[in-house]
Amino acid sequence: MVENDGKYCGNCDSHNSYDYPTKVFCSTRYAQNKSPIVETLWHCESWNRVSQECYCVREAVKEKNNGDASQH
Ligand SMILES: [Zn+2]
Repeated sequence: MVENDGKYCGNCDSHNSYDYPTKVFCSTRYAQNKSPIVETLWHCESWNRVSQECYCVREAVKEKNNGDASQH
């Protein structure tokens, strides 16, 4: 079960919008020469709470919960 106050790429201060809301671009991983495109609801050991509020995690959870219903 996903909790909104957990650790996720979508609420990390290194994330940028990519394939909103399910995937994000991580500038930390990019700097480390790792694949920078990650799941919004994943997180790594470099996680740092984002300072500005955004809706990435909330929207990713919504998308995940929609499942097949969201497919056209
Ligand atoms: Zn965000």
